[in-house]
Amino acid sequence: MTRREELSENLREVRERVKAACEAVGRSPEDVELLAVTKTFPASDAALLSDLGLVAFAENRDQEASAKVVEFAELRPEASVRWHMVGNVQRNKARSVVSWADRMDTLDSVRLADALAKAASGRERPLEVLLQVSIDGDPARGGCPVPELAGLAEHVARSSELALRGVMAVAPLGMNPRDAFSVLEEVVSRLRRDHPAATVVSAGMSGDLEDAIARGSTCVRVGTALLGGRRLASP
Ligand SMILES: *Cc1c(COP(=O)(O)O)cnc(C)c1O
Repeated sequence: MTRREELSENLREVRERVKAACEAVGRSPEDVELLAVTKTFPASDAALLSDLGLVAFAENRDQEASAKVVEFAELRPEASVRWHMVGNVQRNKARSVVSWADRMDTLDSVRLADALAKAASGRERPLEVLLQVSIDGDPARGGCPVPELAGLAEHVARSSELALRGVMAVAPLGMNPRDAFSVLEEVVSRLRRDHPAATVVSAGMSGDLEDAIARGSTCVRVGTALLGGRRLASP
């Protein structure tokens, strides 16, 4: 099997899973975007996935991503795709991230918001962001604790350099994903009262995308199920 055939087969299976999960709860598969998490995989894999119709890719390390985005553009100069940052960003990397990311999906503090806004000033359009929610409040694992989310959203909404698009979350280890995504669903419904344009809910990965879709995810981030196991540990 060629790599292209392998990716094509994986993509077919992932799309089937998304479709079945949507049907199970009466949602339309068109309302759930598929984000291919290409971290640790080469730009050539992103190129093949783009040939197969995918248009959104995610990375979790600035250095790896900035090189991959350039390489992808050389491999597929005609392709129009979007790149998302889904990893922790140090404030001193804000400028670099802003140079390649179309959306920053892991904004979790006022300090990082300010660094990104500064780095994004002078852009034609504001930088799209998602607020990363810490479902269990564990400060070690990134994400904004739920009690601080409204304040962070207000802060981002006041920035002309940032555009608040929604939220992102990872189900905490040791918590049933469906319970975790239920918490997220409540958080989202409260946030939307004040920020109706924040419609994106990025939740669900290879192992728990069904649970996330059942709880309102509009964007699943899939690595392993599309690309296979990662040989390198990814922080
Ligand atoms: C790696 C990663 C994913 C993809 O995880 P898989 O289990 O391989 O599908 C999703 N979201 C984030 C934030 C990641 O870092």
